[in-house]
Amino acid sequence: IPGNSRLPRWLKTDIPTGTNVSNIRRTLRDLKLHTVCEEARCPNMSECWGGGKHGTATATIMIMGDTCTRGCRFCSVKTSKAPGALDVNEPQNVATALAAWGLDYVVLTSVDRDDLPDFGSNHFATTVQQIRARAPQMMIECLTPDFQGRPELIEPVALSGLDVYAHNIETVENLQRMVRDYRANYKQSMFVLEHVKKTKPTLLTKSSIMLGVGETDEEVMQTMRDLRSVGVDIVTLGQYMRPTKRHMKVHEYVTPEKFKHWEQVGNELGFIYTASGPLVRSSYKAGEFFISEILR
Ligand code: SF4
Ligand code: SF4
Repeated sequence: IPGNSRLPRWLKTDIPTGTNVSNIRRTLRDLKLHTVCEEARCPNMSECWGGGKHGTATATIMIMGDTCTRGCRFCSVKTSKAPGALDVNEPQNVATALAAWGLDYVVLTSVDRDDLPDFGSNHFATTVQQIRARAPQMMIECLTPDFQGRPELIEPVALSGLDVYAHNIETVENLQRMVRDYRANYKQSMFVLEHVKKTKPTLLTKSSIMLGVGETDEEVMQTMRDLRSVGVDIVTLGQYMRPTKRHMKVHEYVTPEKFKHWEQVGNELGFIYTASGPLVRSSYKAGEFFISEILR
């Protein structure tokens, strides 16, 4: 982001530095963990990793490889029809590394693996179980693929012992086909969120909407209402940023005031928590929120 003078002022941020962040970077090298925070050069690293005022360090870890079977038009992850076998030792290695790091809140996410018979559902569930066994206090959020809307693949993750189940709707219904891979769609993603709640009603569910891709206010409103109607507890809204010129264009830079408006709407609609701002990402200070809002 820095150096791009055509961005509105509220999107100009510095690449995170500071002792805390550089110490953690070194630890990550040693532990061989891949964080989305680093790979996406996320501007929120100091805040998330540093832990904020509640001292709750959050990071997002990527599992199941770095190559996705899908090709969404906003995403810079590599794609392939057959990304290769999963590392069967990954659940255990990730759990050991996370326990050594002493993180408070982890977000586990992955590429989509449509090439695998179970789309990676069991690998996800096993990773959660392994973390639980080694770091019982750690709060775990999973940001999962849609598992092609198959209930028997959603359930193992929902029942694996995690605290928050996140699946992103990404955009309004009308723009799904333009923004996401052809195998993803609005109804399927709503079904995933609904089915998680049915499977385990006490589990918190969460979803994210990217703004600035051409949606209307009425469509955003409808998406938020639909998320509430399937019992979603937490919603985040952030600005779409074009990763490279090969990706879809930014239609609009939504103002901070408008993001504030959506936060109020989220509160009025009854979400437990709404995070809405230009730089907000799905996992933005997730742990910080969990401690201050849920466990208070
Ligand atoms: Fe990127 Fe996820 Fe789409 Fe794969 S499914 S291309 S990782 S957004
Ligand atoms: Fe990492 Fe998410 Fe925080 Fe960015 S917002 S630093 S990706 S945990």
